[in-house]
Parts: sequence; structure tokens; C-alpha cells
Amino acid sequence: MTHYIIVTGGVISGVGKGVTTASLGKIFKEYGYTTTLIKIDPYINYDAGTLRPTEHGEVWVTYDGGEIDQDLGTYERFINQDLPRTNSITTGQIYSEVIAKERQGMYLGQTVQFIPHIIDQIKERIEQAAHGYDIAIIEIGGTVGDYENVPFLHVAKLLERTLGQNRVAHVLVTYLPIPAHVQEMKTKPTQQAIRLLGQEGIIPDFIICRAERPLDPPRKKKIEHVAHISSENVISAPDIDTIYQIPLDLESEEVGKKLIKYFNLQSPAHVDWKVWSELVHAIRFPTARVTIAVVGKYLATGDYQLSDSYLSISHALIHAGAHARVAVDIQWIDASQLENVHTIDTLLGHVNGIIVPGGFGTAGVEGKIKAIEYARTRKVPYLGICYGMQLAVIEFARNVIGLSQAHTTEVDLHTDHPVVDILPLQKQLLEEKSLGGTMRLGNYHASIMPHSHVYKLYHTAGRVDNGAIVERHRHRYEVNPAYIDQLSTHGLIISGTHTREDGTKLVEFIELEDHPFFIATQAHPEFTSRFETSHPLFSEFVLQAYQRQLKSSVFEHKKSHTPSVAL
Ligand code: GLN
Repeated sequence: MTHYIIVTGGVISGVGKGVTTASLGKIFKEYGYTTTLIKIDPYINYDAGTLRPTEHGEVWVTYDGGEIDQDLGTYERFINQDLPRTNSITTGQIYSEVIAKERQGMYLGQTVQFIPHIIDQIKERIEQAAHGYDIAIIEIGGTVGDYENVPFLHVAKLLERTLGQNRVAHVLVTYLPIPAHVQEMKTKPTQQAIRLLGQEGIIPDFIICRAERPLDPPRKKKIEHVAHISSENVISAPDIDTIYQIPLDLESEEVGKKLIKYFNLQSPAHVDWKVWSELVHAIRFPTARVTIAVVGKYLATGDYQLSDSYLSISHALIHAGAHARVAVDIQWIDASQLENVHTIDTLLGHVNGIIVPGGFGTAGVEGKIKAIEYARTRKVPYLGICYGMQLAVIEFARNVIGLSQAHTTEVDLHTDHPVVDILPLQKQLLEEKSLGGTMRLGNYHASIMPHSHVYKLYHTAGRVDNGAIVERHRHRYEVNPAYIDQLSTHGLIISGTHTREDGTKLVEFIELEDHPFFIATQAHPEFTSRFETSHPLFSEFVLQAYQRQLKSSVFEHKKSHTPSVAL
């Protein structure tokens, strides 16, 4: 029997609904309940595949090939569990499913309407995703009061009505601003959010009050009265240093225990937050720091730069750092800047490791290639992800093999040496379909070369099964199989490949010898890094960056203590 927790947001977006949902999920999993998390996005897009990452943040890729909202990534990182693409529901999907049914004659001549057909479809999708779990936590995107939210709030009420009150708990995550000119915490916007929810017949059972500072007793009382809930269910959630602190804070406010009581469920026998707490402690009080350059494309929206398009990479680095007890400072470097600098040392000279992340198109490509050359020749730890692997192959082909025109046909369609190209099957797909369906998406196996660096790392992490590993993908182009022999004979180690049904070998991992860490992959390892189990590639990369930093500080130290000739 599934119990539902519906998480809505009040006042403004970005108050932390996603991390609250993820944290509640982590708490229930820790309590021993099977738990799934579902995200509802009220936009009309079918999925996030065609959304601009600089506007909407990163596109998250599920193991089964869904291109969806980044909140599912937050969920997976917290609950350490793969979630299927169907756990992301959009208005676009609901309408297209209803229209498809109508076209198939499934409504038997009825007039197809918002109520009941759209509502029923939403309910059906939620129930399918929740099926078989003890606890299903549903986050409704946007803010109460948004036009687009209404159908989903209606379904939230419907669930409560059909299943009974003690099977559905409503959690409102709200924001209490402290305007600079009055320096006083204001509850009015939260009061209005409560009333807006009330218009849909929903009275929140728990209110999580996000604010710069903790909630004081008079304000707590006010909210308690407006919402008609007991004061113990008004939860103060002030700003914290790291989002991974939130499950611990919610635990100390006993939110999980209160929900268990609300649902009339059994209290957990044994709860152990030791590992989680130690990792949080490592983030909050690091003993050392490293600087990692992420050389990508950073487009600003208005006055703000959004590095959210690389959210999973940031988190994979945070996880790796926490496990190594090292803080990772990320330096976001706009690749196009590297194309114009006099000496690349000014931008990369002080960093301890370099990442070239996934990307599309021509912007900054030559700058990224320069960064890779720098990492390769100066022996700076390098981790290439997707485009970062393709460009590493191009750099190698140009500067080691001497194919100065080597390129990807994504940038130069007529290059003499298309070392990265669209393979015939992909070309066919591109011609047949529109942009949405032409990528290699989701999980693919890679056979890993025994004794390679990549093998050792995955093997130590217990992730090699029958000589193969699995990672998620999202790309169109591949290393051109026609160049594999030439690359290998010049010393590029192809340490992992995926064999396609037609026998074509696709390059999945490359690495270099005589380098502390030069590994690149066609996959997106950042999508399988979790807080409690950091990803082996990121972990080793951060450790090697730390080694480099230690060596350079010894070098600096020696330099400053070497007596000068004059003495
Ligand atoms: N643009 C490249 C491709 O489509 C790489 C994609 C990526 O980095 N995710 O193959």
C-alpha cells in the first residue's frame, strides 16, 4: 500500500523543493521503506531534451534514455537509486497521451475534456510510477498560484479524497523573505501561498519554512494559525552551507518521524546517519582544497551566469571531494577565452586538474582543444566527458599524429580528417527524424580493456561485470572507426569500446600512459555519481589533482626557501 507525500512550493521558485523532496526520500529509505520520487513539470514541452540548458539548467539523462528535468538528478544523488524516465511527468506528455488515446478511439465517442480526462491521465501516470512502493514522493514544479499548476493540485486533492487523508501528506515548502530595508522576516507571502493552496481544497500538513535565518516563535505561531496546523509541523529550514545537510536537519526536526506518525506507519528499527554525517562534515570542514578548471560554455542570462548547465559535474566533484576529505573549488573557464589569451598559463597555470565537459556545436571548441593540449603536455590531470573525449581525440590526432586538419564533422563538415563523425546509422536517423530522436541515449555497455587505468578504477569500485561497465550517454557523433588503428599505433589507448549490433566498435574510453591521469569517456559518468558512492573516475581524478597540488606546493615552498645567489 503506497503512501503519498505531495511537495508543493510557495512564494517563489528555487526555494529548495527539489532538495527537500530528495531529502525526504533519503529519510524514508534510511527508515527502510521502499521509496520512489516523482517530478511533475507543468510546462508544455514533452521533455527537457530540447530545452536550453543555460535557461533551464542541465538536461538529466535517465538510465532508460529519458532526457528530463535536473531534479531527478538531485533525487538520484540523494537516494542512491536509479529512477526511470516515467518518474518525470510534464503537461506536454499528459496532453499528448490523451490526444493519442482519443485518436485511437479509446474514449468511445465521448467529448474529451480537462475534467475528467486530463485529470485521470495525470492520476494514472502518478499511480503507475508509484506502483509497488511504500512511499511515493511527488514534487509539483513551479509555485502554487501558477496557472499551469492547477491540474496537478487538483489531482493531489483527488488522491487524498480517494485514498483517505492518512495516505496522503501535503508538504508546502515556502520562503520567508527578510527585506534588506526592514530587516524583519515577513510571513505574508507564505500566508498567501497557504490561501492559494486552500483554493484547491488543500490544507498543508507540514510547512517547511525556508529563510536566511531560523523561524522565531511569533512567526511560527502566525503560520500555525493561518494554516490551522499544529506548531510541531511548522518546520524551520534556514540557509545552510551544503544541500547534503538538509536530510540531517529535517531529521533533527523529526520531520520523518512526524510523517510516520501521520501515516500510522511503523517506526524504523534502526537508523544510521553516520556515513552521511561524516561526508557532510568533510564538506563543511575540509582539510585541504584543490582547484579544478571546467572549460565549457557559459552563457549568461541577463546579469547572471548559469553554471547550472553542469550541475551533475559539480556534484560529482563535491562527492569525490567529500570522500577524499578535500574541498574542490571549481573554476568555470569560458573556453572561448582560451582562444585569445597570450599565454594559456594565465588561465590554467594555477589549476590542479582540468575537465572538458559535454557540449554541442562550435562555440569555444578551439579553446577546449588548447586546454586539452595543455593538460596532456603539462601532465595536468585531465577528465574528458563526451565532447571532452571527442576533442581529446582530435587534439591527439592533430598534435601527436600530425593530422593538422583533424576535426569533428559537427564543426567542420568538409574536414580532410573526420576523426569524429556521424556514423551511417545515426545519419539515417537524423534524416528520418527531427532533432529529438537521433542521439545515443541512456545506458550502454562498454567492454573494458583488462589492466587499463579505467579497468582498475571501475574494478576497485565493484562496477565491472563480465569485463564490462555501464554508463549513461547523450550524443550523436562517434570517434570514426577508420582512425582507431592510427590513433592506437601512436599511443592513444582505447581502453573501452561498445560493439554495436552491426559489429561496429564505438570508442567509449581513452587514456594515456605516462600521465598521472588522462582519461576521457564518451559517456557521462557524472550521472552515476551519488553522495554516498562517489564515482571512481571523479574520485581518482580529484586524488590526482590533490597529489599535483601537494607537489606544486612543495615546489613553491622549496623555491621560496632556496637561498639566492647573492647570499
Ligand atoms: N556534440 C557531441 C555529440 O553530439 C557531444 C555531445 C555531448 O558532449 N553530450 O556527439
